[in-house]
Amino acid sequence: MEKRERISLDHFQYLTEILDPSMDDYLFIYDLQNDLYCISPSALDRFPIPGCQFSDVAGNCEKFVYPADVKTLQDDLAQIFNNEKSVHDIEYRWMDREGNPVWINCRGEVTHDEQGKPQFLVGCINEIGLKQRADNTSGAMRETTLQRELEKRQGERLSGYILRIGIDNFKEINENWGIDYGDMILRRTAECIGEMLENGQKFYRIVSDEFIVLNTAKGEGDVEAVKLYKKIRAAIDSFIADNHYEAFYTISAGVLDLTKVNKQNYATLMKLSEFALNEAKNRGKNQHYIYELSDYRMFQYRRRLIEALRHAVNNRCEGFEAYYQPIVDIGKQKLIGAETLLRFQTEELGRIPPTEFIPLLEETGLIIPVGRWVMEQALKACHKIQEKIPDFRVSVNLSYIQVLKSDVLSVILELIGAYRLKPGSLMIELTESGFLESNARFIKFCDELRANGILLALDDFGTGYSNFHYLYNLNPDTIKIDRSFTLEALNNPQEYNLLRHMVEMTHSIDLKLCIEGIETDQELEKISAMDPDYIQGYVFGKPCSYEQFVEQHVRENAAV
Ligand code: C2E
Ligand code: MG
Ligand code: MG
Repeated sequence: MEKRERISLDHFQYLTEILDPSMDDYLFIYDLQNDLYCISPSALDRFPIPGCQFSDVAGNCEKFVYPADVKTLQDDLAQIFNNEKSVHDIEYRWMDREGNPVWINCRGEVTHDEQGKPQFLVGCINEIGLKQRADNTSGAMRETTLQRELEKRQGERLSGYILRIGIDNFKEINENWGIDYGDMILRRTAECIGEMLENGQKFYRIVSDEFIVLNTAKGEGDVEAVKLYKKIRAAIDSFIADNHYEAFYTISAGVLDLTKVNKQNYATLMKLSEFALNEAKNRGKNQHYIYELSDYRMFQYRRRLIEALRHAVNNRCEGFEAYYQPIVDIGKQKLIGAETLLRFQTEELGRIPPTEFIPLLEETGLIIPVGRWVMEQALKACHKIQEKIPDFRVSVNLSYIQVLKSDVLSVILELIGAYRLKPGSLMIELTESGFLESNARFIKFCDELRANGILLALDDFGTGYSNFHYLYNLNPDTIKIDRSFTLEALNNPQEYNLLRHMVEMTHSIDLKLCIEGIETDQELEKISAMDPDYIQGYVFGKPCSYEQFVEQHVRENAAV
């Protein structure tokens, strides 16, 4: 009786306005007899409700209750109106202002008038999906708390830093030692971070294995953040030692100096700190990286380029083009074939050099469909050129990704068959670099090429890790000398001698040698004196389109 007399909608609204800033939840009262609804004002920011007080609840609820859940709500309310129950406690979805579903728990009690008819439903709504604000595994606060902290200060010019710490290879820790052990590492890492913090520094657990330390005090943001990172690392190292090296792990950190960031809204800060941590990990882990705008621009450019490459792959390789560069048999003074070189351009980004886009194709696996496309272009071109030059052969570069992650041999054999070519019309060019670790696979692939009569060239010889054992193991038909080596030989007598010996050695084990990157007649003369087998360079022609290649090189060399 007493309870009833005290309730009034206006009084309730006045109270919710006072309580709102100190609450995450939304209080509500539903006057069942007058069909009036009143809710905490902050609900209006989040949900598309008509106001903090509104009538026609049944009609209006379709504006903010997730369509699939309207019936659940109506069924429950019908029972309340029919006086069949006096407690409302359901979990269902509302929609936020963008129309996304938001899970809520709505709980309330029904009060009755003197005749015993339901009068008010009074209660509280909380968001069950969002509000996990502290983390019991690590003892740190959760991201939602960080978000509130930063959003409160939005618009202020912040100083200080965000230090985003990630445990390296956390997935492996969980896999190798189990989830409980992983939780222990998380807890211990959180303790190490917590113990190193000073006044005013706060830390939060972000995703499974990442923490953020927020420090908005003035000072040299990045220097201090790095100092803190090193202290935390030392604390973790001594924990590992105390734990008798049972589990060894490291942490990386991305540092964001808040004075260097213009747009300081929450989403941007999270995005940039994530980028900084990823950079630290990409650069080898167990280290820190300090955010630089120029690096971030480069990262964005790479992302745009990847998008453009993926778009091209999904649109019949539009934007890619196969270019061809003549390879000349220097003894016979005759064109013997061409190397196929991939080109890529888009309207927005212009022409991109292969040294830039090929690593991205490899990283994304897109080299597999693109590699197949290049192979087909090359074999089609070879088929047509052989009508004029019957022993013409085409060289195609293969990436280690194609060899390791696709059945590229079947693709090659299928296309050779489709264009009715002799297997010896194709020379595969491989570089050693990516293949080092996966030697056995690499050797097997080369054996299979040879067994099928396909020629093999070892590309970029004289750079990187060239090892004469490769020559023995892989038994290629040709080795190709990279332009960087050629240039050194042209400019330095000792390098020249070295190259000359290499030519002799190559011939002594019955291999052919192709020298790349000869640009002028003078260079040609100097290099020809070494007696290499083939020359590929601007002196005989730059890489060009199929049509230009036929125009400039095939007509004049065609057997009549
Ligand atoms: P690579 O296979 O060693 O190709 C030879 C490179 O030397 C080509 O560069 C060619 O244009 C350049 N070159 C040839 N003669 C001269 C010369 O006289 N002067 C100068 N300055 N350069 C010369 P490009 O076309 O930029 O290709 C670079 C690299 O990209 C290639 O090196 C190859 O490793 C890779 N690549 C190109 N196309 C493909 C492809 O279809 N698949 C794969 N996996 N890699 C490719
Ligand atoms: Mg090559
Ligand atoms: Mg090369």
